[in-house]
Amino acid sequence: MTSSDDRINYLDHAATTPMRNEVLEKMLPYFTQKFGNPSSLYSLAGEARYGVDEAREQVAHVLNSRENEIVFTGSGSESNNTAIKGLASARGAGKGHVVTTSIEHHAVIHPVEQLEKLGYDATYIGVDNTGLVDPEEFASAVRPDTFLASVMLVNNEIGTIQAVRHIADRTRESAMSCGADVLIHTDAVQAAGKISLNVDELGVDMMSLSGHKIYGPKGVGVLFVRRGVTLEPLISGGGQERQRRSGTENVASIVGLGEALILSESERLSNRSRLQRLSDRLVKGIVEKIPDAIIDEKRLSHVPEIINVSFQGVEGESILLGLDFKGIAASSGSACSSASVEPSHVLLALGQEPALAVGSVRFSLGRHTTDEDITDVLQALPVVLKQLRMFSPST
Ligand SMILES: *Cc1c(COP(=O)(O)O)cnc(C)c1O
Repeated sequence: MTSSDDRINYLDHAATTPMRNEVLEKMLPYFTQKFGNPSSLYSLAGEARYGVDEAREQVAHVLNSRENEIVFTGSGSESNNTAIKGLASARGAGKGHVVTTSIEHHAVIHPVEQLEKLGYDATYIGVDNTGLVDPEEFASAVRPDTFLASVMLVNNEIGTIQAVRHIADRTRESAMSCGADVLIHTDAVQAAGKISLNVDELGVDMMSLSGHKIYGPKGVGVLFVRRGVTLEPLISGGGQERQRRSGTENVASIVGLGEALILSESERLSNRSRLQRLSDRLVKGIVEKIPDAIIDEKRLSHVPEIINVSFQGVEGESILLGLDFKGIAASSGSACSSASVEPSHVLLALGQEPALAVGSVRFSLGRHTTDEDITDVLQALPVVLKQLRMFSPST
């Protein structure tokens, strides 16, 4: 595909995904004919209630959980916040300890930091230079007052898959031996549609998901809460979602999330070899064409969809603009704040120097990505870098 083509080569699926037609079609009636409030008693409301119930069955089926363990929320971020702050306030105000990692999404890191301001303690376990958490190190951070351990299943910037089951098992053993009552939460927002979400196999008590990362709608999430776990709700009011998340249900989006999750789970295994091949081509191609690119070639425990690469002496944001000019949409780990470029906390945790980390680009593949799209990137990227380096003072 050439740059004059008006189709965007979208390689930012870890940021968001386009909604599937099947999902949109299933949602549409809930905006118009089936508009009832699920809590009302007449038959119109029953239709809306049935839509929410069916979505709950779909999610429970994929997670291998009970339906009453599924709570619909307003986003993946809200699910994380509910798990973290909801458990903290249920366990006692201002006292207790949380173990998490230094590569979590900000929707985990920031609520944990908020708890620290309220007087709770937190330990952030680092990763090795491939982005993996050591289960022994994680478990050994548990103390008698630890109430929560939160570790993400798939990282949104670098695509590493953590050994969540192993981490959960070791954390529980460690908790047992020091008399702590620890629940395990996982942010599985990036794992959905990529790896299994079976909550029993993963050994987790809480799991967060989001609609818009799986070709579903934005503004809807799921929190799996294992039976017996008590959380203080973040949002109280009419008592919807069994008192765990008040507010009239976002019926259409909940219906869309259920359908999107079932569809992505049913295609998960059949998509894998194709995505792995495209991913391998992209990684190999970058290494061949740009020898000084910093990229984890081995990718021992990574999903194929998410690829991070750093370049010395150029800013990620400039590369993105250059790629955008050629019709390619990618993302950088760094966040541009008003004056300076902040390197990604995930890349710093891998041990990258800040000057290198600001030169990172993330390509995230999706169900529509083709061989042509990969060829297109492998043609454009060296050209963009060459142009930027001609003007860069540091090379
Ligand atoms: C996108 C994302 C979230 C946040 O989900 P929203 O629905 O956008 O709030 C949380 N965690 C991870 C790993 C994500 O990639």
